[in-house]
Amino acid sequence: MSAELSRQLAALLGAKGWLTSPEDIAPYLAEWRGHYTDGRTIGVARPETTEQVSQVVAACVAAGVPVVPQGGNTGLVGGAAPHAHGGEVVVACGRLARIRDLDAANGTITVEAGVTLKAIQDAAAAADRLFPLSLGAEGTCQIGGNLSTNAGGNAVLRYGNARSLVLGIEVVLPDGQVLEALRGLRKDNTGYDLKQLFIGAEGTLGIITAAVLKLFPRPRSVETAFLAVPSPAAALDLLIRSRAATGDQISSFELIPRIGVEFAVRHVPGAADPLSDPSPWYVLLEATSSAPDAPLRAGLETLLEAAFEAGIVTDGAVAESEAQRQGLWFVREALVEGQRHAGASIKNDVSVPVSQVPEFIDRALAAVGERVPGIRPVAFGHLGDGNVHLNLSQPEGADPAAYLAQWADLTGLVDDIATGLGGSISAEHGIGRLKRDTLLRHKSSVEMDLMRSIKRAIDPNSLMNPGKVLPD
Ligand SMILES: Cc1cc2nc3c(=O)[nH]c(=O)nc-3n(C[C@H](O)[C@H](O)[C@H](O)COP(=O)(O)OP(=O)(O)OC[C@H]3O[C@@H](n4cnc5c(N)ncnc54)[C@H](O)[C@@H]3O)c2cc1C
Repeated sequence: MSAELSRQLAALLGAKGWLTSPEDIAPYLAEWRGHYTDGRTIGVARPETTEQVSQVVAACVAAGVPVVPQGGNTGLVGGAAPHAHGGEVVVACGRLARIRDLDAANGTITVEAGVTLKAIQDAAAAADRLFPLSLGAEGTCQIGGNLSTNAGGNAVLRYGNARSLVLGIEVVLPDGQVLEALRGLRKDNTGYDLKQLFIGAEGTLGIITAAVLKLFPRPRSVETAFLAVPSPAAALDLLIRSRAATGDQISSFELIPRIGVEFAVRHVPGAADPLSDPSPWYVLLEATSSAPDAPLRAGLETLLEAAFEAGIVTDGAVAESEAQRQGLWFVREALVEGQRHAGASIKNDVSVPVSQVPEFIDRALAAVGERVPGIRPVAFGHLGDGNVHLNLSQPEGADPAAYLAQWADLTGLVDDIATGLGGSISAEHGIGRLKRDTLLRHKSSVEMDLMRSIKRAIDPNSLMNPGKVLPD
């Protein structure tokens, strides 16, 4: 059956569009974090058009072969990784790479699923507009993957996550039909909002092939500051004050612990400590306005004066040029890479109500420290969204494999503290394979039953990314 399907897909897609040799398919089997290294596949389909995606899916359905949609393969929960049984076809969206339309007056851009996030940002900037979704993997991740994971990133505080940036969508359904809903409307109250079902579905309900995205006026005034704060509680106080002081123009508000700066500076060339004296915590704050003469600097100066006086900021650097701004952001992004060089690490991506972040960090740091003496927690993330990536580096000199064997125990501990404070076990990375079974512990049976009903209604044969998000 799979040999016949392979022949059919080769005829349909040609040599560039249907890959089966081990060296060609290897990049599509590798997963960024290296958790799922046993993936195998019948082959990798690389369709160029929505029609081809539909034909590929229809051929797979006819053969009873499951499909694994894949974008830039930067996901962190194993959602795009095929299973070890090898009976699936990977559908890689990278050749669906056209920007179909940019309507500056409507404030929309219509793009195909395989366009990288960076290419969309660049196209928007070239038209004097902003597409605000922004994250560390933006040069590689694709908009289809961003929408399928409902990606968050650095500007959610101001613009919302991927879900709130979509007006229309085109999806190939699990039976090969095309749902064409590429409407660029801000108002459309015509029943259920079907597009939202596919956003955040991690490829379990269909393959997104295109979307209409919202654009915004491009920022013309930008202020970026790297501030030393004594504690997460002080950072929260600063968040509240800074929103008020800038007329709610804060677009990013990132919390960084000292150890994160140290990992970045020690291991990543080009990362420099922005301040001369160490501080236990830092905030990277950015305020933006589309007005060229917005009084952001004056607001920031007034804020910092009061914050120094109140002792919630102890030191700081404000970017005086675009190069300095990029240098400050580089430290924030480099801490992730830096941590990779500090031995094994166990990752958490949780959210709690913004007001509960300090309490969460206090409790979680105490709990993991008690469980594993010498553990090196890096609690960083998008404080303005209540999203903490509590990445736990192994104690120095510990055996990495023995440390990683505690993954479920340590993430369970952290998840329970987050959900106990009204939080979520996945703020922005999704569920995929990594958190599929944990989800059962944290969602009510009513929520799980509704999710299963939706899956059954749209994908009755469970051929669309099976075993991801929901257990088979
Ligand atoms: C350095 C780094 C920094 C990151 N920072 C952030 C961050 O700040 N915020 C954040 O939210 N994430 C972040 N991520 C995670 C990742 O970049 C996002 O989840 C991203 O949205 C995934 O996009 P992708 O194209 O790589 O998707 P993939 O990894 O290829 O796929 C992700 C999921 O979407 C499905 N999928 C992919 N394309 C389609 C499609 N066209 N139709 C249907 N399903 C599809 C896959 O089956 C899979 O389940 C980061 C990752 C890295 C490596």
